[in-house]
Amino acid sequence: MNSDIPDIPEAQVQGLEPIFQCNDYPSSHAPEHHFSEFQVNTGPDPEDLLEDIESHSNLSDIEESDNEEDNQGWYSDVEGNSDRAEEAPMGRVYPGKEREIPSQAVAKQALDDLKKLLNPPRKTGYGHVDPQLDSFVRSHMEGMQMMLNFYTHAKSSTYDAWAASSLQASMADGNGSNCARRIRRLTRQFIKDRTVLPVNPYGSWNESMLVDEDLRNDISLYLQEIGKEISAKKLMEYLSREDVCSKHGIEKKISERTAQRYLNILGYRWSTPKKGQYADGHERDDVVFYREKVFLPQWRQIQNRMECWIGSDARLEQGPKMPGSHVIVWFHDESIFYAHDRRKKGWYHKDEPAKPYRKGEGASLMIADFVSADIGWLRSPDGKQSARRVMKPGKAKDGYFTSDDIKLQAEEAIRICKECWPQYEHVFIYDNATTHLKRPEDSLSARRMPKNTPKEGSNWGIEVTKRNPLTLKPICNPDGSHQKVKIRMGDAQFADGTPQPLYFPEGHTRAGVFKGMVTILKERGFQNMAKVRAECKGFKCIPGAANCCCRRILYGQPDFTDVPTLLELTCKTLGVLVIFLPKFHCELNFIEQCWGFAKRIYRLNPESSREDQLEKNALNALEAVPLTSMRKFATRSRRFMDAYEQGLNGRQAAWAARKYRGHRTLSVTIMKDLETAGIV
Ligand SMILES: [Zn+2]
Repeated sequence: MNSDIPDIPEAQVQGLEPIFQCNDYPSSHAPEHHFSEFQVNTGPDPEDLLEDIESHSNLSDIEESDNEEDNQGWYSDVEGNSDRAEEAPMGRVYPGKEREIPSQAVAKQALDDLKKLLNPPRKTGYGHVDPQLDSFVRSHMEGMQMMLNFYTHAKSSTYDAWAASSLQASMADGNGSNCARRIRRLTRQFIKDRTVLPVNPYGSWNESMLVDEDLRNDISLYLQEIGKEISAKKLMEYLSREDVCSKHGIEKKISERTAQRYLNILGYRWSTPKKGQYADGHERDDVVFYREKVFLPQWRQIQNRMECWIGSDARLEQGPKMPGSHVIVWFHDESIFYAHDRRKKGWYHKDEPAKPYRKGEGASLMIADFVSADIGWLRSPDGKQSARRVMKPGKAKDGYFTSDDIKLQAEEAIRICKECWPQYEHVFIYDNATTHLKRPEDSLSARRMPKNTPKEGSNWGIEVTKRNPLTLKPICNPDGSHQKVKIRMGDAQFADGTPQPLYFPEGHTRAGVFKGMVTILKERGFQNMAKVRAECKGFKCIPGAANCCCRRILYGQPDFTDVPTLLELTCKTLGVLVIFLPKFHCELNFIEQCWGFAKRIYRLNPESSREDQLEKNALNALEAVPLTSMRKFATRSRRFMDAYEQGLNGRQAAWAARKYRGHRTLSVTIMKDLETAGIV
């Protein structure tokens, strides 16, 4: 299902409510440690003592240890040098203490800079522009601004009193000492480094909690199994169940509206007959058709030529083998790792210091890889070659994987497989993401074809973006738009397999000109097409009327129906079979659970804003997924394959997979078991 991560249009994912709202921590349980970068000493902090003194008795509700600084920078230049303290450039140090508080001059400068960030002046010098801050960032920056106002304003009752000013600012906003501490910390960091701003730890989580494959898999299976009972309320209830919350570290309930959005993302749609009920994408007509008529027949060709791994130790099961060489099946998928993904309880200490950073900075990493139950991640035995691709999504980064990236990655994967395991047949499995299904630009399509041969002096072709032949980058017009160029559509195919060029051949009076639908159909044996209209109005033909218009007839021709994807053509050229999973059937791709496993390990790392750390941690986590676990995951998805093979629907398959956990195949009495259990 995480195929949908790169796939979900921006508009759809924006506005998704993260399950953990971070701008409304009311209490001392505020998960501010989500920001943190360094696991540090948890001993008493000198500044707390200092601030206790400073904040006077009426404001003395400063709580336990704060540890708000990281170990670098801030007081390093005065540490152990308290005799030189008065000369410290940033401010004063109290005798016997090693933490200074910012000087008035430094604080005023910070306040000015903060104001400019909150209200950036127009280039013209008049008025302001919108700084585009999210509400979390804005409210925290406003808190910092207020604190600095209290601290630097000569008439303020907390003038020059650092902690007291933060508490005043916090109280003015209806908050307490925890919030005060957070504001102090953020302000100190801002003073130290102007590029360090508060960041909403979930602001970059556009896909919300569903980026966690483990949780998403559990949700999908739960929903799949309740079948027709699916509703936003049910999902909301599921996500507040104690076992689910504790397993996935969920700390806050989601609203019914959020649950509705999750259902949409997961492929569940409103079903018309009864309001509030959802239909499972597994049972959509087109999806069922694809599963039964396209996917399963392909799977049948290879399923008995694969190794089977069973039992808790994932040992090899010797079974009947079909003739032909042993097949290794590689499952492909993409996953996103987030720098801020540190939300599991118990894996951080609440006293860890904060290290906020700019929105989007090093926030995520997208990884595309292949895995097989036989070998594990796709890489050469010496570890030197790998088809893994790593990208940094987002602005000014590498962007998302394009269909060209996917094609290049497939070529690399096939090359490694042929070099390292030439004795096996390799099959590649992809999900139904649009980047995987892209067709070559010159692919057959009847959509825009003119009925007749274009007039003298004109021609018809497919308009495509003009690209630099070497870099494949689009060539732009002076106004920034992409330059377009017309290319010829590729040849069609007659029923006997011979090519049918769509343009008149050399020697013809109209050589090189597009033939038009009438001529193309005539060559296929359709007579008198000139009398048939080009297209029914709006292409809304009467259902079942096969010969109503030229375009409908062409649409129904086998070569126009089965247009191969770029990926299929690439793999076919290299002699390798590629299979696309049915939509919404994430349970069939066991790499999902490999991602989930890796992320559980990944979250144990201390958080870092540094991209090289994020990448290193993510890659190490992937390496740490044991092969036995991969095999167990593979066995589980084969149980689902088996269920669909036996004609079960999505709901029955989910039930059966749970019921026969540990087995590769389902019981022979499965139909009877389903009947007894009342699962229809
Ligand atoms: Zn028609």
